[in-house]
Amino acid sequence: MADIPDDSAALLQLLGTPGTGVFLDFDGTLVDLAPTPDGVRLEAGVIEALALLAERHGGALAVISGRPVTQIDAMLAPLVLPVAGVHGVERRGADGTFSVAATPDVSPVLARAQALAAMHPGLLVECKRGAVALHYRLAPELEQLCMQEMTAAVQACPGVVLLHGKMVLEAKPSATDKGGAIAAFMQETPFAGRRPVFAGDDTTDEAGFVFVQQAGGQGVKVGSGPSAATLRLASPRALRAALLAASVSPFKE
Ligand SMILES: [Mg+2]
Repeated sequence: MADIPDDSAALLQLLGTPGTGVFLDFDGTLVDLAPTPDGVRLEAGVIEALALLAERHGGALAVISGRPVTQIDAMLAPLVLPVAGVHGVERRGADGTFSVAATPDVSPVLARAQALAAMHPGLLVECKRGAVALHYRLAPELEQLCMQEMTAAVQACPGVVLLHGKMVLEAKPSATDKGGAIAAFMQETPFAGRRPVFAGDDTTDEAGFVFVQQAGGQGVKVGSGPSAATLRLASPRALRAALLAASVSPFKE
């Protein structure tokens, strides 16, 4: 990992600058990835740091995740943040308003993924609002088979695209993505008029990086791999360290 540039100082500066809007992915960004989605653990102090940072930025701190909003709430309790879930299908604004995008019918994809998982116990299927995720982290040798099946399933579903993440294939609506979710937040108080910063680790986050950079902000890629993001951190640990440091350092108001 020594070859990954460390832009912690640049991120710290952004997080300490008034007028920043902070957007954070969850898995692989705030928490380390685990063998199963249920297995992730939030490190001590992160919730407190997020609460402090949100307060400093006038509430302009949101989580932008592929998980449903309810799961993010459960992970961050008792903290309640603005959240976009299922890659932008679900969104709860800073004022508490919950909105859901229209979604295509993904039941044929779900049926096919479940049939495959029934034959291969290492596969895990997640059914979300308008999306289906097939995790093969516990059976990486099945990647090609999963790819074939999910590609075929998605081809039969108009308005659905296949996203290839870290050990996961996810069928999701083509009309919504993380860039759109951040854009929607940026239309609203307290995000409007701020300079957006978005940190994420996976394929689904690229749309978010592109949006924030077009809006005059910065994308922060966590970990290795090609990315449109202008800044880079080595790991979720490095991101957490930056958040913790930013939450206790004074603003240069
Ligand atoms: Mg992630």
